[in-house]
Amino acid sequence: MFSSAVKCLWICPVIRQRNMSTSSLAGKVAIVTASTDGIGLAAAQALGKKGAHVVVSSRRQANVDRAVALLQRQNIQVTGTTCNVGKAEDRERLIEVTLQKYGGIDILVSNAAVNPFFGNTLDSTEEVWDKILSINVKASFLLTKLVVPHMEKLGGGSIVFVSSIAGYQPMPALGPYSVSKTALLGLTRVLAPELASSNIRVNCVAPGIIKTRFSSALWQNEDIMDDFKKQLSIKRAGDPEEIGGVIAFLCSKEASYITGETITVTGGMSGRL
Ligand code: NAP
Repeated sequence: MFSSAVKCLWICPVIRQRNMSTSSLAGKVAIVTASTDGIGLAAAQALGKKGAHVVVSSRRQANVDRAVALLQRQNIQVTGTTCNVGKAEDRERLIEVTLQKYGGIDILVSNAAVNPFFGNTLDSTEEVWDKILSINVKASFLLTKLVVPHMEKLGGGSIVFVSSIAGYQPMPALGPYSVSKTALLGLTRVLAPELASSNIRVNCVAPGIIKTRFSSALWQNEDIMDDFKKQLSIKRAGDPEEIGGVIAFLCSKEASYITGETITVTGGMSGRL
């Protein structure tokens, strides 16, 4: 008995603090992909402020180091590793690092996306489609496949995919990207009923125009923004924190009866399938 307790402490260097705090994610372990900037970083921050231990990652070590330092300054329990979600060995290492550091996985926020193409969809190449679908859709599924057994060991978990309003209403010149974001709405609805019996909830957020580097060509262009504002009730671009908070809510106890759902966070831009 004593030796198994010692073994547990050895395997789990950070003692899991379930139910030891009033914060609804106290001691939960959260992996957030593409979390060294923008929406991913804001999600890591919001989860960390609710008490979760967060694992941040992206392709570049310097970005990981910067994000870890920033979150540590906010007293968030955080570790980081590089992970290009398009690479199988990186996805596996992300899971390994998390298990070694925290001993389990409760939450996955699959946030990474790329858009290497602007223009008429018929001008897009097979290479463009392979890249977009591989990073934006397939990696979300493959990461889910990797985390589910570990969530099941803990009796449940929560998964959030980051889609886009473009998944409902395709954006001009962003055809393949928009299609990939629609696919995530489908993936959410496919996985939610399949994973419900494992007590794993699967949800999605669909942001509108959010002030990050990714969308800077949109929100830094006054003409484009003036056009968008006609569709917005709240006449401004959103901030990453306004998405991060919704993601943390979806992962929290307060959302325990929500699954298979996509929350649009767009300042009132409408869109429907
Ligand atoms: P962002 O601020 O530009 O941040 C992108 C992050 O992704 C960085 O940390 C980057 O770090 C990382 N990254 C890029 N490629 C990666 C890869 N292959 N594997 C792992 N990490 C990668 O972007 P964002 O606007 O927050 O976008 C996040 C998500 O929100 C995306 O899914 C995007 O489609 C969605 N979204 C954004 C908006 C918007 O208006 N901003 C609207 C709707 C949806 P490294 O360079 O170090 O890899």
